[in-house]
Amino acid sequence: MAAAELGLLSYADAVAGCTKCALAQGRTQVVFGAGAPDSELMFVGEAPGFHEDKQGVPFVGAAGQLLSKLLAGIGLSRDEVYIANVLKCRPPGNRDPLPEEIEACEPHLWRQIELIQPKLICTLGNFATKLLSGRPNGITQVHGRPQDVTLGGNPVTLYPIFHPAAALYTPRMLQVLQEDFARIPELLGRAVAPPPAPEPEPAEAPVEQPVQLGLF
Ligand code: URA
Repeated sequence: MAAAELGLLSYADAVAGCTKCALAQGRTQVVFGAGAPDSELMFVGEAPGFHEDKQGVPFVGAAGQLLSKLLAGIGLSRDEVYIANVLKCRPPGNRDPLPEEIEACEPHLWRQIELIQPKLICTLGNFATKLLSGRPNGITQVHGRPQDVTLGGNPVTLYPIFHPAAALYTPRMLQVLQEDFARIPELLGRAVAPPPAPEPEPAEAPVEQPVQLGLF
């Protein structure tokens, strides 16, 4: 087993009983993270919701299904990336994370990043973007703009994009998210898939020439 995988497994074990904040009392389980431990690409969301709390896996609800679809659109599957959240436990009623919860939980995320050593981290929405960039700028302002930073002692490109939950019911936001997503292969230094060929125009029916009546 590779070092990153071993490290993540033993760290997940240690975090499973975490009581560093009050969310421990209401959770079904800690939602540590999922995916390829040695992936170059990591996604960081906000916090587990109802389904994630029940299943112990991040992004398995409606927002997660959209994330899987967006990944498929750039030729990737969930198993090829690593997915985690700022908070590892579900806030009651899916409310926003509190500053003290983020502060208590962030060492877990830093350790994950240290072990995985991704090349590119897509921060999904405001909470992950502000925490990992260390800047107060909101997602509407910074989405789609890669930032080179050092995290866990390693150079990383942070790529803030909208949270898929925000795009679920807002077509305009979904379009922006798809456009930002389309740049991920390029940021990974991969060949960008050629854009789909335009639909061929339906062949035009030949214009009928008026029949010359042979009267003259
Ligand atoms: N939203 C998140 O931010 N994380 C999840 O795991 C699910 C929904």
